[in-house]
Amino acid sequence: MPFLRVWEATGRAIDSNPSPVAVIAVGSVERHGDHLPLGTDTMVAHWVAERVAEELGAHLYPPIWFGSSKGLSSFRGTIDVDDLALASYVEAVLREIARSGYRICVVVNGHGGNSSIVRVVARRVAFSTGMAIAVVDWWRDVAQEARKKLFEAPGHAGEDETSAVLCIREDLVDMEAASSHSPRYIPRIAAYSPAIDSEIYPRALLGDATKASKEKGCRWLEAIVSDIVESVRELARNLGIEI
Ligand SMILES: [Zn+2]
Repeated sequence: MPFLRVWEATGRAIDSNPSPVAVIAVGSVERHGDHLPLGTDTMVAHWVAERVAEELGAHLYPPIWFGSSKGLSSFRGTIDVDDLALASYVEAVLREIARSGYRICVVVNGHGGNSSIVRVVARRVAFSTGMAIAVVDWWRDVAQEARKKLFEAPGHAGEDETSAVLCIREDLVDMEAASSHSPRYIPRIAAYSPAIDSEIYPRALLGDATKASKEKGCRWLEAIVSDIVESVRELARNLGIEI
């Protein structure tokens, strides 16, 4: 099955090249330290989504750029979309993907603030349309062995995420502005609190970005792509879908 970027495809191309699998990224526009681009979450998730779609011969949809960024909304340039508005929008898009006849939709999420929202709407759409929906938080659901091996100081805009951006868009990273931050307290349970978030993210950064490297980022991303591809193939096999 041919890989296709839906927004670049003509009507004839999309009609004559059907695929049972659609792939879409969801990200954010938010502050990532002083050294990474604000579009980091969307750009990396979309890059992963594109590689996965290529491997699977799937249809790639354009990413959903804006996400829910409560904890970093005080930083200039961060766009914090209301949770329920985001839920409705992502749900509407997934319903439209289902209506186009795909059997499996893979959602590559690039931002922690979106995770619970994306899962809730994925479940709603899957059970009301019959389309299977796989949701992957690319940095924490797959390739965790590689992550542990490669990085000592991971975190938001930290060693791991900075390495990933160095791999895909080195030109957008300002390593001279890279820094580190380890907060005195990180809750071990899900604790939603603006006071705690501003303690954790005074510089919109966690971990140590100065330890990042392009090479580590590329090795990690390769492991992530193959882990997702393998998981989707396995899902398809078990659903009796040929891909
Ligand atoms: Zn991020």
